[in-house]
Amino acid sequence: MDKTSILGGCRCGKVRFEASVEKIRTAVCACIDCQKASGSPLSLSIAVKEENFRFTQGEDVLKSYPDTGESGKSVNRFFCTECGSPLIAKPEGYAGMITIRVLSLDNPPDAPPSFAIFTKNIPEWITIPEKAIKAGKKFGG
Ligand SMILES: [Zn+2]
Ligand SMILES: [Zn+2]
Repeated sequence: MDKTSILGGCRCGKVRFEASVEKIRTAVCACIDCQKASGSPLSLSIAVKEENFRFTQGEDVLKSYPDTGESGKSVNRFFCTECGSPLIAKPEGYAGMITIRVLSLDNPPDAPPSFAIFTKNIPEWITIPEKAIKAGKKFGG
C-alpha cells in the first residue's frame, strides 16, 4: 500500500517534522491530561510508526515531559520551547508508535475521527460521530 507523506511543525516554525502513514485515521482523546496539555476540550491525533516519523529541524528547541494521568499509563509529550505548541506524544502503552497532533500538520485532514476515547469529558456542545464513540469503546473509551 502506498504511504502518504505528512508534514508539520509548531506555531513559530522552528520545529518541523515529517512522517508517512499508510492510512490517515484520526483519533479524539478527551482525557483530562490531553485537555490540560492542549488547553482545549479534546485533542485530535494521528498515530504513526516511530520509524516513519522524524524531526527535520528544531530538535534543539524541542522539549518533552513525562505525563501520567487518567489512563494510568505514562506518555511523553513533546512541545516547542519557543512557542509552546504541543506537537507529538509517545505513549507508553502503545510501543513503537507516536501520536501527532493533527492541527500541527500543514494540511490537516478534515475527515471525522475514526475513534474517540474519554468522551465522558467532552462538553455536550461538541458532537462526536456515534461511529467514533463506538469504535473508541474497544480502546477503553
Ligand atoms: Zn515553535
Ligand atoms: Zn488523552
